[in-house]
Amino acid sequence: MNYLDIDLTLTEDDIELKKAAHRFAKEVMRPIAKKLDEMTPEQVIAKDSPFWEFMRKAYELGYHTILIPESYGGMDLTSKQQAIIFEELAWGSFGLTVALGVASFPAFGASLVAEEELIEKFIVPYCECKDASIIGCWGITEPDHGSDTLMPQYPSFSDPNIKAQCRARKDGDEWVISGQKSAWVSCGTVATHCALFCQSDPSMGHAGGMICVVPLDLPGVSKGKPLNKLGQRDLNQGEIFFDNVRIPQSYVIGGADAYEALLEIVLSTTTAFMGYASAGLARAAFEEALEYAKNRVQGGKRLVEFPNIQMKLFHMFSKVELTRYYSRMAYMFNQNTSTPAEEYSIIAKVFGTNSAYEVAHDAIQIFGGNGLTKEYLIEKLYRDARATLIEDGSNDTLAIAGGHKMIHNYPRLDM
Ligand SMILES: Cc1cc2nc3c(=O)[nH]c(=O)nc-3n(C[C@H](O)[C@H](O)[C@H](O)COP(=O)(O)OP(=O)(O)OC[C@H]3O[C@@H](n4cnc5c(N)ncnc54)[C@H](O)[C@@H]3O)c2cc1C
Repeated sequence: MNYLDIDLTLTEDDIELKKAAHRFAKEVMRPIAKKLDEMTPEQVIAKDSPFWEFMRKAYELGYHTILIPESYGGMDLTSKQQAIIFEELAWGSFGLTVALGVASFPAFGASLVAEEELIEKFIVPYCECKDASIIGCWGITEPDHGSDTLMPQYPSFSDPNIKAQCRARKDGDEWVISGQKSAWVSCGTVATHCALFCQSDPSMGHAGGMICVVPLDLPGVSKGKPLNKLGQRDLNQGEIFFDNVRIPQSYVIGGADAYEALLEIVLSTTTAFMGYASAGLARAAFEEALEYAKNRVQGGKRLVEFPNIQMKLFHMFSKVELTRYYSRMAYMFNQNTSTPAEEYSIIAKVFGTNSAYEVAHDAIQIFGGNGLTKEYLIEKLYRDARATLIEDGSNDTLAIAGGHKMIHNYPRLDM
């Protein structure tokens, strides 16, 4: 009996990829993530930090190209395989998995339109990179604009009174970018390239956006301090500032006319990613609790012999299983349709991250006082899970945006 996947359609390749990713998560990611969690944000990104050992080993295995099509040098994976591998990696560390995911963001964004120059400049060199010397990030949120940047089609998204803090204006054949992105940009202070989502037509509000690749060694780019935070401390984050930074038109992935549609495609990928990665995080927390409950004796009995613990573990296990299969299905659906239904991916994110948080919360209860100490991994998993409820869109605002879409799109069957 295999408790780790009840999908009977998994191929031999799927299973091999899953095993290999699990080995990497267990042998490389877990130990490195534990060390990074105890460091300051500055130590995490210092030259001799184990963060770089993780990135180099992941790049050597090609894990930085999971989301990139094979025709450009990516790993040649089905959408199911992408979900399977990311779940395993997130079992090892959620924060490091996000670092790897955003590292590919400029190349991934460029692959959506596949213009010759974008391929040559930003996709192929990234795929060929084996030493983590090319790292991407995704700059979309701003100090004064978090949730509202992630709600395409919602009425506030096209409100012209909402002025973004990072804007691009056309100057001849070039775009000039000024402003800043928030301190939450993952890999923000270590990235070499940014997939920048900024405003190019303020008369359209956030909908008047532009997606472009900005090499972060261009004149006018500067970065803030690495952010010190509660969970996912192994994930570097920080602001990026743009002071009249010039890029050619050829670095633009999409302009205001396509922005909202492209953003929906991007969010359909990222929110489903948060779902299946949460299955890995929830599973890690569940396994810690199960193992502890098998060994801890109270009143002459092991904890697993008490009905309330059996019931709690059952509900935790259910959440892991439901998160995995729903988010995998939502991802596969949205990757294989011409117009993704973002609300399905939002369900994966909201249900999955809520589940991971609840499982980690219940796991701490099973650990009793020990669960609150740094001696046990569950304390870190709980903090990591807490961050997921806000990461990539707060669950409240995503639910509002998802509800808005569902109400407008839900088909009525004319019986
Ligand atoms: C671990 C992590 C990684 C991240 N990585 C990135 C990244 O790579 N790139 C990037 O650009 N950003 C990133 N972010 C930022 C993230 O997307 C934002 O934190 C998130 O969208 C929420 O925005 P905010 O923090 O500004 O909160 P706010 O938008 O200020 O929201 C604060 C509260 O108000 C509520 N709220 C806001 N608007 C509404 C509304 N219209 N109706 C009802 N309630 C509302 C929210 O639900 C929330 O509870 C990351 C964040 C985290 C925690």
